[in-house]
Amino acid sequence: MKPIPKIAPCDVIEMKKPHPCGKSAFEVVRVGSDVRIVCLGCGRDVTVPRIKLEKSIRKITPGRKSDESPV
Ligand SMILES: [Zn+2]
Repeated sequence: MKPIPKIAPCDVIEMKKPHPCGKSAFEVVRVGSDVRIVCLGCGRDVTVPRIKLEKSIRKITPGRKSDESPV
């Protein structure tokens, strides 16, 4: 069984396919049935269906969270 990647706003995700600008890192803006991500290279935002996005994620770097910070 494959673990389902958990995506949350502010997370930085690395995609298997880089953006045309050459960067493959995107910041998650909004999560729903569609996920809105912003390219960290050129700042363009892209809306991708969640199922499609989950398949093309290589790595997730959790972003700053306001609700659960142990610091
Ligand atoms: Zn880009």
